[in-house]
Amino acid sequence: MSKKPLGWDGKTLNVILEESEKLFKETGYYYGITKLTLKEEDPFRFERNYASLRGALVSARETALHVAASPIVKEIGELCFALYTPEGDSIVVSTGILVHVHTMSEAVKFMIRQDYEDDPGINIGDIFLNNDPACGNVHTTDVQTLIPIFWNEELVGWAGGVTHQIDTGGITPGHDLVPAMQRFDDGVYYTCRKIGSNDRIWKDHLISAKRSVRTPMYWELDEKCRLAGDLMIRDAVLEFIKKEGIDYYKRFIREAIEEGRRVFLERIKERLIPGRYRAAAFMDMPQKNEAWQPRARLDKISNQPLEIIIKEDGKMSLSFEGASGPGPNCMNAEKGAMEGGQWVLLTQILIYADKVNDGAYFAVEKNYPLGSWCNPGDIYLSYQAPWGNLIPAYTGMMKCLSYGLFSRGYREEVVSGYSFTGDAIQGGGVYSDGPLIGQRWSLSTFEISGQGLGASAVRDGLNWGYAMWNPESDLGDVETWELFQGGVPYLSRRIKPNLSGHGKFRGGANYEGVALVAYSKEVDFFGAREGMVFHGAGGMHGGYPNATGYRLYAKNTNLEEIIRNREDYPLGDPDPSNGEFERLLRADITRKPYCSIYPITLENYDLIYYFMSGGPGYGDPLERKIEQIKQDLDDGFYTENIVNNVYGVVAKFNDKEREWIIDEKATENRRKEIKNERIEKSMTFEEFWEKERKKITENKLNDPVRLMYTESLNLSKMWSKFFKEFWKLPEDFQIEVK
Ligand code: MN
Repeated sequence: MSKKPLGWDGKTLNVILEESEKLFKETGYYYGITKLTLKEEDPFRFERNYASLRGALVSARETALHVAASPIVKEIGELCFALYTPEGDSIVVSTGILVHVHTMSEAVKFMIRQDYEDDPGINIGDIFLNNDPACGNVHTTDVQTLIPIFWNEELVGWAGGVTHQIDTGGITPGHDLVPAMQRFDDGVYYTCRKIGSNDRIWKDHLISAKRSVRTPMYWELDEKCRLAGDLMIRDAVLEFIKKEGIDYYKRFIREAIEEGRRVFLERIKERLIPGRYRAAAFMDMPQKNEAWQPRARLDKISNQPLEIIIKEDGKMSLSFEGASGPGPNCMNAEKGAMEGGQWVLLTQILIYADKVNDGAYFAVEKNYPLGSWCNPGDIYLSYQAPWGNLIPAYTGMMKCLSYGLFSRGYREEVVSGYSFTGDAIQGGGVYSDGPLIGQRWSLSTFEISGQGLGASAVRDGLNWGYAMWNPESDLGDVETWELFQGGVPYLSRRIKPNLSGHGKFRGGANYEGVALVAYSKEVDFFGAREGMVFHGAGGMHGGYPNATGYRLYAKNTNLEEIIRNREDYPLGDPDPSNGEFERLLRADITRKPYCSIYPITLENYDLIYYFMSGGPGYGDPLERKIEQIKQDLDDGFYTENIVNNVYGVVAKFNDKEREWIIDEKATENRRKEIKNERIEKSMTFEEFWEKERKKITENKLNDPVRLMYTESLNLSKMWSKFFKEFWKLPEDFQIEVK
């Protein structure tokens, strides 16, 4: 290479990256830093400097999202910023959708390993764009802007920002596209592309990018938002160096990451008991009767077994050994997505204080087995919605860590699981009337960030207020969502009963909604969520998982007539056995027992029903306090028959007082009756084991389960050995594929 190397001390970025990896491998300390000298010499200066950088990133985020940004970014802050070392390790992060902090780290490392320093070159004022999951991203819908930071011709860091787009031009309008099964369905791909110089985005890039998506205005706003934030971060770093000196800065960024690693180890030692923790989780992909593509017509269940080992020195390892295979569906996950999911949960449950950076990444060993859904090793698969696999899979991590927290006595920190952030209305269409006639709209309502959280060991789960990927989740305002999904106004939003997982402490409650198709044509609609299996590993110490999803919509309705005559229309589906849709509409009504569907075409006056998810429960429901059940009934979280059947509570509604009255004597008897039923129906573990084993030996598993286990057995020798030992099967045992 003839050019002067960009890195410190006359080294190329590639050499710096290799050195950093070697030092960590050899010493076990980040960058070989055994002593935090700056922190020890002057802790106040060190902390003040860290706080000033963090403040700069938070303010960059707050400012950028108000300068420019699409409604989704502005409304619920679906963006985040981070500052990286020259070789791509995150030093400090903003608030926001923290799932992305390590993802951009992998993008920087990709550019370094591909020798971007030589070609296409990395210069002061250059702008790079990435949304390729094979370079550390989650899915094409998340778009990252990265800029290098220079001091005296040396590259001293990178600023990165990421936003989630409403549409990236995939096989159907919207985001998290269910019908995507290969890379070419995922929308426009930017694989760490240079898109600007001298702090300006190139015109030819913007022209091409805006033609590659269905919502060009939002794309452009978000590109400007990310760049604005990055430039503010660059200014803050240059100010820092002016004030503290470049030598201090170079040492400071290394120590900050090493301290992040140490904080994580200390927290593990303080909060968890060493040992092996395991959890099982699953997700259904019902495509046999849904898929367009012949190869995708397959019902699958994903196997998501998780093992976490906590060592006495605070080290943690995490392995998905035994995970089933990838497939012709949108839910395949690359390592970047897996890192992101793990990271965002760890920041909530273990590293929520002080130094949040890639130190935690260096403190955890991971195994995402090659060839499984969490590391397929094939860039031509679809990675449009890895969330479909990783969200349920990481309920296992939440549960494993919760067992550790419980054992140490941190009962209030226990989280029995969380629910899937799905079943928002998805798709898009074209305005056929009004001021925006002819323009396209896409659905990307981030109501999905208002799901039910699992109960802890001391209290009920949070209602309609949790998303695993955004610790600052907010379900947003209907009016904002209607702004950019104008073709689908909302008719209702109200509490839906019986969603919360049962328990001594119940999971978070949630609501349902009915949306109308209006003023539009060419409307594609789809959705995704668990339906045929419970969500992940939810429920703990006797608590139940939350209710599963299902699909309901009405086509060819008489709604126009209903509106004209001012008659009642459906506002929800509180009791599917006596549905409001069926009672109040003349229409073709479809109900499906699963939730993930391929796009259907809808016309004006068609109705779509959806509901957000409740959270899983904790502990035995028979131990739930009677006053709490009365409150659940008064709030509409549970219905009378459910509290009778599950909680053993006998209640009657008092019409005059408009409240529920509990019959305490009858309740006492009912609870005794349930306990006796349990004794009668219960079996020993050996009986249960024998019963379940027969399903395997007599080949009585259903097709998706058989396929799932076959994939896991073939992919992992270790898991196969464990499976056969547990079920006492011969070594050469194979599941017969029908
Ligand atoms: Mn995203």
